[in-house]
Amino acid sequence: MTILNSTRELQITDAAHHLHPFTNTRELNARGVRVITTGKGVYLHDSEGNKILDGMSGLWCVNVGHGRKDIVDAVAKQLEELTFYNTFFNTTHPPVVALSKLLSEVTPKQFNYFHFTGSGSESNDTIFRLARYYWQLMDKPEKTIFISRRGGYHGSTVASASLGGFGSMHEQGGLPIPGIFHAPPPSWWANGGDLTPDEFGLKVANQTLELIDSIGAHKIAAMIGEPIMGAGGVIIPPKTYWPAVAKGLKERDILFISDEVICGFGRTGEWFGCELMGTEPDFMTMAKGITSGYVPMGCVGVSDRIANVLLEKGGEFAHGYTYSGHPAACAAAIANLEIIRSEKLVDRVRDDIGPYLQSKWKALADHPMVGEAVMEGLIGAFQFTPDKNARSNFADEAKIGLTARDFSFENGLVMRAVGDRMVIAPPLTITHAEVDDLMEKTIKVIDLTYAHVRKNGLI
Ligand code: PMP
Repeated sequence: MTILNSTRELQITDAAHHLHPFTNTRELNARGVRVITTGKGVYLHDSEGNKILDGMSGLWCVNVGHGRKDIVDAVAKQLEELTFYNTFFNTTHPPVVALSKLLSEVTPKQFNYFHFTGSGSESNDTIFRLARYYWQLMDKPEKTIFISRRGGYHGSTVASASLGGFGSMHEQGGLPIPGIFHAPPPSWWANGGDLTPDEFGLKVANQTLELIDSIGAHKIAAMIGEPIMGAGGVIIPPKTYWPAVAKGLKERDILFISDEVICGFGRTGEWFGCELMGTEPDFMTMAKGITSGYVPMGCVGVSDRIANVLLEKGGEFAHGYTYSGHPAACAAAIANLEIIRSEKLVDRVRDDIGPYLQSKWKALADHPMVGEAVMEGLIGAFQFTPDKNARSNFADEAKIGLTARDFSFENGLVMRAVGDRMVIAPPLTITHAEVDDLMEKTIKVIDLTYAHVRKNGLI
């Protein structure tokens, strides 16, 4: 095998052979891709020797930080013992049994059954079929429709991208598939007008229930939502929103799916985001933090209400993936969950490091160009605005968010831009000193962006 070394060599070969996800590869190739080579704790290194604070935990997944030897060793040991065996044909293996039991301990009480997949997308496609199958078994086959939300993200496969509310994704490949309706998102900053956040939360919940009633609840299988919208820009809903939606769904006999791919495994200061929001889902979508991204894995939590029907009335569920419950992924998940438990990371996020970062982060809203700065647990965002009183936006062409993202990377911090909203979700293991480093860099990014905006007459 040829070993490529220099940054330039890697860039040229990457440009010649690699089509990147969620990327305009032509533009990227013209610019030259960044090469990340190592990671330890909350820091990454690139091929030019730069040290970068990973403020996004990779893609919201490396909850316990990079390079944890316990997980690496557990995976290596498992691969030596049993590299692969499936869980299809009357077989199981020790790591998938142990992980299933462990998940029943850390998830909300109604979850005692788990179906494994390779990703969040696969998990949502699985739930799409499972929820419809459940209603078939309940002699209500007409309940097939799904409600989701504009700005929600649920994955890139056909059903999951259709459930998601991104027009840019729907435009490619003729999505959404039929039978999916998108309700408005609870984005107070963008759409709240003169209402208080609590009033606005109730308004959007009512709009969602009105949409449901206009379709006919008897035709609706389930509603899916992220407790906090992640890829849509870290939209933290007003406190009134989820309880009102969940109550309305229960009254109408509609299943509720909490997509915990980002919010799960301690991110919000609870084990799962639904616990923070006060909802009791029938399904949970899990991925990312389940293994802290060390090995790909997704999982569907199936509540007792659903599992009992499947077990009592159902036959074979004709669905599964080669890598459902892959032994190495299970070993990674078990070692990862043991770290989260033994280091009490969930409590740490709720009581210590979360509040420490939040108090500094929320103070960013004092800056003249920052409209709001929000954070729950260790997931947050701030919004650039030319006029914070009017809660107005910069023109799309000004690309303020992307400019700030570049400043951030150049100054050693990974932040993500969603439009002009800057998003952060660092590893749950981040120390106080590392939070100080993160904040110093963030303030520098805001100052540089403010100077850029003024120099170009955009404000
Ligand atoms: N749901 C949510 C809430 C997500 O954030 C993501 C990924 N960002 C997915 C589902 C899809 O997961 P995956 O990329 O593992 O397919």
